[in-house]
Order: sequence, then C-alpha cells, then structure tokens
Amino acid sequence: MNNGKNFVIFVLSLIILVQSAFLVYFISRKAAPKEKTKAVRTIVPKEEAVVAPVSPPVATGVKRVPPVAVLTPVMPTVVGKIALVLDDWGYNLRHRDFITDNDFHVTLAVLPFRDHSTHIAQLAYHKDKDVIIHMPMEPHNKDQYGLEENTLLTSMDKKTVLGLLDNAFANVPYAKGISNHMGSMATEDTRLMKVVMGYLGEHGLLFLDSFVTPKSVCKSLARSFRVGFALREIFIDNESDEEYIRAQMLKLAAKAKRNGLAVGIGHDRPHTIAVLKRMIPELERQGYRFVNLSEIVEKR
Ligand SMILES: [Zn+2]
Repeated sequence: MNNGKNFVIFVLSLIILVQSAFLVYFISRKAAPKEKTKAVRTIVPKEEAVVAPVSPPVATGVKRVPPVAVLTPVMPTVVGKIALVLDDWGYNLRHRDFITDNDFHVTLAVLPFRDHSTHIAQLAYHKDKDVIIHMPMEPHNKDQYGLEENTLLTSMDKKTVLGLLDNAFANVPYAKGISNHMGSMATEDTRLMKVVMGYLGEHGLLFLDSFVTPKSVCKSLARSFRVGFALREIFIDNESDEEYIRAQMLKLAAKAKRNGLAVGIGHDRPHTIAVLKRMIPELERQGYRFVNLSEIVEKR
C-alpha cells in the first residue's frame, strides 16, 4: 500500500519535473533572440489573439495539457509592408518623444540647416529610424509658398548645386538620401535633376520622389543614374483633422495589403503624431510591418 503511494508520488514528481524542464527550455528559447521575439510579439494579429478559444479550466490535476503547447511560437505572417516617411523635421524638438520612446520603423525627412536638423538626425539614427534630407526645391508658385533658405533652384549652376548638397549632408548626419520639399518646378527640370541624381548615384544615396507634379522626371533619371528610388503614393495629412489622417492611414494599409508594399508621407505635426502613436501599434498587431525607406527602395 505504502509502496503504491510512493510510486504514485514518484510518477507525479517525475511528470512535474519533465514539464518544468520543457517550460524552462521553451522560455529560454523564446527569450534568446531579442529582435526576433519582438517581431513575433508585435505582428501577431490582434483578432487572432482575441478570438483564440480559451479552454476552460478543468480540474484534472497533473493531467492538464502541458504549458509547452501554450508557448509554441506563432509564425508571423506579414499582411503588408508600410514605408512611412515624415517630412519637415528640424524646426523644433516638440515631438522628440515620438523618435525616442518607441521602436517604430519610420523614416524622418529632415530639412537641412534648421536649428535642430543635426540633433533630430542623431536621435533618429540611435533609434534605428532612417534619416533622409528633405531638400527644399523650387516650386512653380514661389509667391504662394515662399522659399526656404538654401532651396535648390533650376537657375543654379552645377557647382552651386553640388556644394549645396555637400553642405546639406554635412548638416544632417547619417542621411541615406534625399526627398524633395516642394519642388514642383525642380523635379520637372531634367538638367537640375541630372546633377542631383549624378551626385546621389556617385555616393550610393537614395531618392524619394514626394511626387508633387505628374511631370516629374525623377523616376527615369534615378534609373539611368542607378539611384535607389521610391515614389510617394499617399499623403496622409493633407488635412489636419485626425479622422482624415486615420482614414488615410487605413488607405495606406489597404494598399500595402493589396500590393505587398505602400509608401506614404506625413509631417511632423501634432495631429499626425497623435494619430500615428495610436495607429502604428494597432496596424502592427494586425500584421502590417513598418519598414525603413532604405529597406524597400528599388535598387538598379
Ligand atoms: Zn516638406
């Protein structure tokens, strides 16, 4: 009788020991690659987690389903990649926390020569967010917009353009390329854009066409100068209303789902930042992946 009891206790102890060993093994395996764990955690679709059937607690003692099954890693499925670029950084540090307090992959397009251009670029770099230079370029309607200092003009000679680009890259460290701030006139100008693309190609830098004119010559020139190229598809904050921005983000996500990838542009503005703080984690939980621009440019 006593022997029988001892045997049962022995068997129970053995089962608990084996389960514990499994548990420790799987927990340590899950915890080991930090980056991977994060990816797995962030892109598990929310719906899936919510609707997953929860088995009711059954009082069967040691015969409970082993915890190993609960910890089996779910393979992430990417619904679509979103490359989101935020323009016009550099004037101030009011949204510093959006750069430093999360690990979102968004690309910051920093205006050169502003009070905080260099600092913003450094902050972004240390949070693994891509930095590009948001280069002011000549628009058609100059009177309406007014020109930023150091705007690239169609009237500038090659030497002046190259000097300006050199200074911009010195002012914005870690920049992986440029995008155009305004520039409806400049990006239609083959001569000027040849000089710009020649410079980018020579230095292995990329170009994002903000696409402010359908007559832009940038795409074909990028190809001939072997410059990594991306084209803006959706502006998310042409209106500052939060509902509008939210709807544009959903459009961007739908495009990413349809095409595998979507490129959007927003701005360093309070309503945009507020919406993104909520929506990026939300979309990531649904399986969308936010990626740096350099990850998706078309290489020639
Ligand atoms: Zn801009």
